[in-house]
Amino acid sequence: MKTACHGCRADVPTIGPDGRPRKRQVAGDGSVAEHVATVGGYTAVVEKKCDVCDGTGWLDGFVPPC
Ligand SMILES: [Zn+2]
Repeated sequence: MKTACHGCRADVPTIGPDGRPRKRQVAGDGSVAEHVATVGGYTAVVEKKCDVCDGTGWLDGFVPPC
């Protein structure tokens, strides 16, 4: 059994079948976006490896969210 990593899992805004916005939770892909700077109204982020799952997107066993 494995659990989708809580560290890099993300809420993705999407439009539901009824045309209303909703959030869809997607399993982590092992990378997290780290905010590094805001320059001239743009947000700069770098992708780095997730510390929680070591880049795999999954945790061994059942892991409750903390
Ligand atoms: Zn992760």
